[in-house]
Amino acid sequence: MNHYDIIVIGGGPAGIFAAGFAARQGARVLLLEKNKRCGAKVLITGKGRCNITNDETDPRIFSQAFGRQGKALLTALHAFGVRDTIDFFEQRGLPLQIERGGRVFPVAGGAAGVQKVLDRFLQECGVTLLNNCPVRRLELEGERVVAAMTPAGRFSADRFIIATGGLSYPETGCTGDGYRWAEECGHRLTPPEPALVPVFLAEEWTGELMKFNLKNVRIALQQSERTVTERFGEAFFTAGGIGGPIVLDMSSEIRDVLKQGEAVLLLDLKPAVSEELFDKRLQREFAENSNRDFSNSLGTLLPKDMIPLFIRLSAIPPARKCHSITRGERAQLLKLFKGLKLHVRGVDGFAKAIVTSGGVTLADIDMRTMRSKKITNLYFAGEMIDLDGPTGGYNLQLCWSTGYLAGISAAAD
Ligand SMILES: Cc1cc2nc3c(=O)[nH]c(=O)nc-3n(C[C@H](O)[C@H](O)[C@H](O)COP(=O)(O)OP(=O)(O)OC[C@H]3O[C@@H](n4cnc5c(N)ncnc54)[C@H](O)[C@@H]3O)c2cc1C
Repeated sequence: MNHYDIIVIGGGPAGIFAAGFAARQGARVLLLEKNKRCGAKVLITGKGRCNITNDETDPRIFSQAFGRQGKALLTALHAFGVRDTIDFFEQRGLPLQIERGGRVFPVAGGAAGVQKVLDRFLQECGVTLLNNCPVRRLELEGERVVAAMTPAGRFSADRFIIATGGLSYPETGCTGDGYRWAEECGHRLTPPEPALVPVFLAEEWTGELMKFNLKNVRIALQQSERTVTERFGEAFFTAGGIGGPIVLDMSSEIRDVLKQGEAVLLLDLKPAVSEELFDKRLQREFAENSNRDFSNSLGTLLPKDMIPLFIRLSAIPPARKCHSITRGERAQLLKLFKGLKLHVRGVDGFAKAIVTSGGVTLADIDMRTMRSKKITNLYFAGEMIDLDGPTGGYNLQLCWSTGYLAGISAAAD
């Protein structure tokens, strides 16, 4: 029989939670997933380690990470919050640990361990799962969805939950189908845009520094020498630009600034010391190495493999003796450490976006239940709604919380 109480479309974190928790309430649930296995994106999260959530247990503070619209998440966070997420995984045999910035990761087993727990959860709850089953379109009757059409046939249900994700990393199955259906059913969309993306730089040398993890650095985004925003934390250079948490978190602002003109990033490699103190440090180094070549003087300030590039960028002749380095040359060198200018060429697109910003507008969703305000038996969960957070586990928590709430609300209807 192809009729169910609830059909969930999309087997990512949000859809799995929605399906599992709805089934736990006693509903007959079918989960339709396009890929051969659920959770393809989970496997690549946190560089394979899966940053499951963020250890900010106060829902009010947690929701602020999602910006002005974050308050809309409060009911979902109260229904299933950070503590519930941690308990969910730990009680299923996946111990977690809290790392820098409150990031919560599995102690061992990484993203594959998370995917296994999610697979087992679906089984434990008695969800009927159909993999390799892309939904092509929804059948509507008045203000109700009545069926999902797939190559494997027509599946009908009393209620539907769409959790098809956004548009980022399309190879994981996210091709914006849910956005299309939502619009067809009369929902408004905030235009989807790539968010948390790396940045392309004009500097040609970035590839030379790829192997270095820049920890505890500060990056300021500037336009016409005015600082628009700045972040402190971790970044790394890529073949054509720069990425890492603080750059990804600034990427939407960088895109906005670029629309107005040039965008410059100022990288401070030594944010803990003032320019004045760092200059004193340089003077000390040069005094201690006064008869050595400049090229042999930076060993205590930089990793060995970074030194050749810094020598080149400083434009100070490598064979210049340290005692003859001028004040102007030292000032130039100081800038490389405390304000290395990086010229932004652009931001990357959906192919490299960690999440999609925009999506089904919150005004068309009752965020107390995740039910559509346009279609009486339709619910939304996860990345496809118009909320996106910074790096650090916030986006997966959005999926756990909204997936749970959509599941139990649909089951209670
Ligand atoms: C590289 C990378 C690293 C990340 N790391 C982290 C991290 O460490 N921590 C964090 O919090 N967030 C991270 N994220 C973000 C996080 O993975 C997403 O926010 C989250 O996966 C969104 O979950 P979702 O269930 O809404 O959608 P998705 O995970 O995108 O799942 C949607 C599912 O729907 C299926 N689907 C789509 N269309 C159809 C259809 N027509 N029929 C049937 N099924 C369909 C897809 O195949 C997919 O399985 C990362 C993202 C990326 C790309």
